[in-house]
Amino acid sequence: MKTVSIDFDGVIHAYSQGWQDGSCYDGPMPGAIDGIKALLSDYAVFILSTRDPNQIIEWFGKHAPEIPCGPIEDEEKFWNKQGILGVTNRKLAAMVYIDDRAFVFTDWKNTMRWRDHFAVYPMTKIAGHQGARMVDLTNQP
Ligand SMILES: [Mg+2]
Repeated sequence: MKTVSIDFDGVIHAYSQGWQDGSCYDGPMPGAIDGIKALLSDYAVFILSTRDPNQIIEWFGKHAPEIPCGPIEDEEKFWNKQGILGVTNRKLAAMVYIDDRAFVFTDWKNTMRWRDHFAVYPMTKIAGHQGARMVDLTNQP
């Protein structure tokens, strides 16, 4: 089973005002619920967030009660269950990590070319950012 990891804030939870008091005050990002359902039919899917997993499970109970959702136990090192959305604050192995603040690593030379832009959030606002092509600066002057 291939596993997909999804960030919560800014990817599932709209998070329009940032952290604030730590509550989950927003509804879902457009397309989030349908997207998760589609991924669950093809992959093992878990949410990786620094939040308390129970807070996220409560949010799903309110905004998408039809999605089976539960915590990943501490002893689990992998998430291979299809059809149940796992929730954890530990980084488990995954084929891909869907995250609004991710930087795709290719090599250190390329990473250092982007370092002055790390403070810009979200990363998609960086001039020249073109999704996955953002990393393809290796052969540019
Ligand atoms: Mg995020």
